Amino acid sequence: MKVTEHIKKANGKTLFSFEIIPPKKGNSIQELYSNIDPLMEFNPPFIDVTTSREQYVYIDKGEGLLDRKITRMRPGTVGICAAIKHKYDVDTVPHVLCGGFSKEETEYLLVDCHYLGIDNVMALRGDAMSHQKYFEATKGGHKYASELVSQIQNLNCGNYLHDVLEADHKSNFCIGVAGYPEKHIEAPSLMTDLKRLKQKVDAGADYVVTQMFFDNKKYFDFVKAAKDYGINVPIIPGIKPIAIKKHLQLLPQVFKIDLPEILINEIDKCQTNKDVRQVGVEWAIQQSKELLDAGVPVLHYYSMGKSTNIKEIADKVF
Ligand code: FAD
Repeated sequence: MKVTEHIKKANGKTLFSFEIIPPKKGNSIQELYSNIDPLMEFNPPFIDVTTSREQYVYIDKGEGLLDRKITRMRPGTVGICAAIKHKYDVDTVPHVLCGGFSKEETEYLLVDCHYLGIDNVMALRGDAMSHQKYFEATKGGHKYASELVSQIQNLNCGNYLHDVLEADHKSNFCIGVAGYPEKHIEAPSLMTDLKRLKQKVDAGADYVVTQMFFDNKKYFDFVKAAKDYGINVPIIPGIKPIAIKKHLQLLPQVFKIDLPEILINEIDKCQTNKDVRQVGVEWAIQQSKELLDAGVPVLHYYSMGKSTNIKEIADKVF
């Protein structure tokens, strides 16, 4: 079932969902299951599975020689989506990236998703590769998420690439896209970024999931600005509980988000990461309760593959 159908069916009740990351190559899927298991009591209608970008690794060939190979450290997004769907009877949302994929590869991936009964996809550009300063489109791939949304939307209309086949069967993907309450790091202004978000919605996106934020006012202002700008699809807030002290530097640096002074002060006072984790959980509970009271469609949690803190939050909120 589509994410938008789940929201409609909930009839104003806030739903619980979360995002997981695939295990590192060579690890078992069991650890992932053991982190999903405790969260299933909160009846998530859908679970997102991220896709990681490929990266270069250097293999020592001896005598000072290095062999450069390209690899994906956390492969398996679509397979994991199918496995979770099958095991838990829950909808899954694979994240589909522009970066690292040609349009043809994207088409094959979408065909796989369609055959597997996956009804939702999250269309994202992806970040630059670790050695790049800026995002560069992959040869034969898309430059912006809006182009990827158009490709998925074309498939929904039965238009495959290169028009070599007469398609008598259409996909019917519900398409999610990313939104940034504090603007995307590369965008010159919040307004320009909103304009880009509108392009994604006009291209066929059905809903938006936001980047993490720690001050609900940023989300409420963003939703209002988006509505004023004519963006009329559900905007799902993304919540991340702070878990380690290093997040104080890391999160603003990587995601260009601000942390509220009170939260920073509370974390500064912590002696151990266990204390930090507790502050993060309490903060996320307060954030979630306020968002729930405001009637958001879904509270979507970034679990980073670990569920204990998300469960503590959900226990208090749902
Ligand atoms: P876009 O919408 O393409 O925007 C990228 C930038 O380009 C923005 O600054 C935008 O303003 C600008 N822009 C857009 N269109 C144009 C245009 N026509 N002309 C000029 N500028 C334009 N990353 C991963 O690698 N894997 C994941 O699984 C993943 N999941 C995510 C889930 C969520 C909910 C979010 C919020 C982010 C996720 N990301 C993930 C990170 C995301 O890939 C990065 O934030 C990326 O830098 C931007 O992706 P986007 O889809 O928002 O890009």
